[in-house]
Amino acid sequence: MCAAALLCFDATLVSAAQDQSSTPIIASNFPIAADARLAGDSKQTRFVLDLDKSIQFRAFALADPYRVVLDMPQISFQLAGGTGTAGRGLIKAFRYGLVMPGGSRIVFDLTGPAKIANSYVLEAANGQPPRLVLELEEVDRTTFVQSLAAEGRPELRPAIADAADIAVPGEVAARPKLGAPPDLRPVVVIDPGHGGIDNGTQSSGESEKNLVLGFGLALRDRIEKSGKYRVVMTRNDDTFIPLADRVRIARNQSAALFVSIHADALPRGEGDAQGATIYTLSDRGSDAEAERLAEAENKADAIGGVNLTEEPTEVADILIDLAQRETRTFSNRFARLLMGEMKSTVRMHKHPLKSAGFKVLKAPDVPSVLIELGYVSNKGDLEHLVSENWRSRTVGSMAQAIDAFFAKRLATAGPAN
Ligand SMILES: [Zn+2]
Repeated sequence: MCAAALLCFDATLVSAAQDQSSTPIIASNFPIAADARLAGDSKQTRFVLDLDKSIQFRAFALADPYRVVLDMPQISFQLAGGTGTAGRGLIKAFRYGLVMPGGSRIVFDLTGPAKIANSYVLEAANGQPPRLVLELEEVDRTTFVQSLAAEGRPELRPAIADAADIAVPGEVAARPKLGAPPDLRPVVVIDPGHGGIDNGTQSSGESEKNLVLGFGLALRDRIEKSGKYRVVMTRNDDTFIPLADRVRIARNQSAALFVSIHADALPRGEGDAQGATIYTLSDRGSDAEAERLAEAENKADAIGGVNLTEEPTEVADILIDLAQRETRTFSNRFARLLMGEMKSTVRMHKHPLKSAGFKVLKAPDVPSVLIELGYVSNKGDLEHLVSENWRSRTVGSMAQAIDAFFAKRLATAGPAN
């Protein structure tokens, strides 16, 4: 099927998707997925999704790790809790959710290389609802890789590549209106981590993606109030945004500061850690935990189903290196200011300033930091993260650090000094 066909979402769908996140009670016209099942064995595995109407979709495979992705128009998933966590046959597990307004995705983690033997939608018949059927067959790696090449690489991530242009609501809202005087205020980009199909860390029924979105919106409201900055969100609803697109938004907007917001978790049995940590970019992690975390956060694209090897190759490293040196100085300055403000109001990690190779911090010309607000795996931290009062205090100290950062920058740049 032509991938472009899937991108022809009309404007009503896009606005309906945004409305839906703020007023979830309003029933949508999106097709409903009511049940999903797996059948078969490790040679042949079938996935069946019950729908209330027929849909168009596109199926493709990805390597390293082996995955199959189904891209489809926005679906209202009404599946039983825990659906997809247990696999069968060639399917280890699967995830589903929004990847952009108007677009949903299901990502299957495979136990090994497999080919899509068949994929189709059955119309309703014999009392059965319309069903989407995906049939997988075990193949060896060579066959798998050949079939990827035959499918053609360029179409691998069409929905995602265009998402930055059409579907980042905050960015769109912040674009200057035609004829309006140019807005010369510094641009602050707030980047709530994860979203949509990518839940981030989870504990006690709380998802990182929701916690950090709530926090990001509160931070936006606080710093917008001063009128001193133009604030752009990388996402302001439950949409998946690939890491490179987050960086692209910051660069397109010529942002003066990029703040990525996350919440960490330690795996069970790996001890307990608590408090907020502020990260800046570095080639080598400042310690093993920083490296582990950067690796986990950088997996967001694989979780969303985007092939990491599809990232555009970096432009001339030497040019970037020069710009980056200055940018890093500013990033580090902001990180220290932030720690200074936060430590008086917020519980900090015992080593609160760290660095590692986070993809989302790699804009060479935008000072960028990533904040892990705390550990959802720690009882005390989780209580903070869901507390309105804690959020308000933390947002307040971050807003102060942002003010201090720009006060210093403007003073340094100003002719009077
Ligand atoms: Zn995260």
